[in-house]
Amino acid sequence: MLLSARLLPLLLLSLVLLAACTPVYALAPTPTAVVPDPSPVARAAPILAAPTPLQAVRSFEQAPTSTAVPSPVSPTAADEPAPTEQAAEVPTIEVAPGAMGIPTPTPRDPATPPRVGLQVGHLRSNELPDELARLRTSTGARWGRITEAELNLDIVNRITPLLEAEGVVVDIIPATVPPGYDADAFLAIHADGSTSAGPRGWKLATPWRASEASKNLMAAVGAAYGPGTGMPEDVGGVTFNMKGYYAFSWRRYTHAITSTTPAIIVEMGFMTNAADREILFGQPDRLAKAIATGILDYLKARDPNDGAALLPPDYPVMRALAEGTIIRAIPQNNGRILARVGPDARIVPFDLQDGWYQVFTRVGDQRIVGWVREDQVAPTDEQSVFPTPTNP
Ligand SMILES: [Zn+2]
Repeated sequence: MLLSARLLPLLLLSLVLLAACTPVYALAPTPTAVVPDPSPVARAAPILAAPTPLQAVRSFEQAPTSTAVPSPVSPTAADEPAPTEQAAEVPTIEVAPGAMGIPTPTPRDPATPPRVGLQVGHLRSNELPDELARLRTSTGARWGRITEAELNLDIVNRITPLLEAEGVVVDIIPATVPPGYDADAFLAIHADGSTSAGPRGWKLATPWRASEASKNLMAAVGAAYGPGTGMPEDVGGVTFNMKGYYAFSWRRYTHAITSTTPAIIVEMGFMTNAADREILFGQPDRLAKAIATGILDYLKARDPNDGAALLPPDYPVMRALAEGTIIRAIPQNNGRILARVGPDARIVPFDLQDGWYQVFTRVGDQRIVGWVREDQVAPTDEQSVFPTPTNP
């Protein structure tokens, strides 16, 4: 009994090695197969018409940083409890996008096929550009001799033909995102690992400040993934690292998606959990189909003419109006209390629902994400500070 339970993962592992090695190593010597077009500006059919968001982002980033941005070494910013990859990093300042006025995307030609970027998490992370040099050693999870990048690539290779069969143009993207990558959807495909065998399940996240389109993409993939794979959701498991994914950080990096590209990060499951491995490695086509179904559902349901849905929201930094203002786990008056803050705490909203802001703040060394009532905080003219982008 015990023996067979131990042999099963090994058996699966060897099967997976056989199955996964072919696409992985066949792809490696032909880098042209991955991201055929490094320059989205040069694409035949740009998804967003002029003014090009890429130029807007660049000119914006250069303009205010020299003088207008205060020193990042503020009491709240300097003590960033750093995730693993960035021990000594002091977070840089992110300026609210509203300051530049992201142009509302112009609806594109309805004859243009939808374009989807599937990023293979950690693939060739050693090739990341200088601006992301600190993530070059971020190789992700592993199980035995299988790296997360190999698993991610295997799944992406299975999703791709399912999308192409429906007329979608797919870009397979390694760790390095083409500058200002622009598409109808961007999904970063990752898998989790843990030091213990217990944690399992999948989870999805949008960027900190998510457009309606990103939220809809997440909802569609989430609706397909659970039933499609039979895997449980890792409820409450979404991390700062997911929302602060480096490829989403168009304010900071050239090698990132545009602000108006709907985007999510998919943590497919835990490589370190036996039950999850039965799906990740044992039924990869089932998993790929679930993700493809979610993407296609999103593309079918969206209104391609709704440019406003692509805009990330913009909120000023807030301060609590009174001492003891409550940050709750859910946007309800009886929601669990996560923290009480006073006017000294900087509150960074990234969503607004029914009179509640979803916010990021700090209490001592603790980083808190929760909900605060809209009428209990007031805007300031301070600059937003988000956690340093990472590569989970
Ligand atoms: Zn990963």
